[in-house]
Amino acid sequence: MYPFLDLHCDTLYALNKNPLAGNLLSNTLQVDIERMENVGAVTSCFAIFVDMDESPSPWDKACDLHDLFLSSLAKYSPRIRQVRTSRDILLSATPAALLTCEEGQIVEGDLSRLAILKDWGVRMASLTWNHENDLGYPHTYSDKPLKDLGIEAVSEMERLGIVVDVSHLSDGGFFSVLEHAKKPFVASHSNSRWCTPDSRNLSDEMLRSLGDVGGVVGLNFFPSFLSSDREENPIANMVRHVRHMRNMGGSGILAIGTDFDGIVGTLAIADISGMEKLWYALLDAGFSNSELEGMWQKNALRVLSA
Ligand SMILES: [Zn+2]
Repeated sequence: MYPFLDLHCDTLYALNKNPLAGNLLSNTLQVDIERMENVGAVTSCFAIFVDMDESPSPWDKACDLHDLFLSSLAKYSPRIRQVRTSRDILLSATPAALLTCEEGQIVEGDLSRLAILKDWGVRMASLTWNHENDLGYPHTYSDKPLKDLGIEAVSEMERLGIVVDVSHLSDGGFFSVLEHAKKPFVASHSNSRWCTPDSRNLSDEMLRSLGDVGGVVGLNFFPSFLSSDREENPIANMVRHVRHMRNMGGSGILAIGTDFDGIVGTLAIADISGMEKLWYALLDAGFSNSELEGMWQKNALRVLSA
């Protein structure tokens, strides 16, 4: 199988919340170094995710998760290494870890903290999670645009080289980013709303716009974003979403953002070691090798190096 870049997992959050689950080397969750090694050349984007309902000081919580990331990498190096650039990813022979953020309120309204995140190695960050914050509104608010500080955050992130992630954002926020961004942006873990009506998924117009600006959308494995019918074949649903996203935004839009360790339910692919199953299902469905190589890694690398 081709080298794999997963745009989103919540493993850091899950390990921090539930230390009994194990550690980054080996755990009862969906991503660990041992299983990454089974996949081969794999880079996981480890999100520093903060739920404001649980953490009244998002910055402090983000610092805790960053500490966990650093101590885990120090402990298990060289079996895993931190990567910061697309070049690092291409050169990495071991499982690799790229830091990202989920929840723009991590900076608590102080955009100078984005430079600190960049120093940590954060290369992609979502503007919101599921709560309104200083930057904008989540997907449940439909037409609400980005706030002024959110628009400022987009240009500051672009200046620093942090890719803007619109997953979880309101539709209005998506179009604010489209209007103000000068570089390609991503929806790191979202699917097609035409296939499965859910505000966390992207409309056809959003998929086409993302394709026009050279962005990507990472296929999310969360069952309820793949189908509203639990009885349906989950792997067939994944194929259906990928086909529709390609038809709307072109092959260059395709990527994967599993959402491992942030999802519940019966999964078609139980953990990171099962990625081959999706590769072969897509191949059987008529996708070409070069389309799959794009989806597995190349398209996301194009955005990271833009
Ligand atoms: Zn998420």
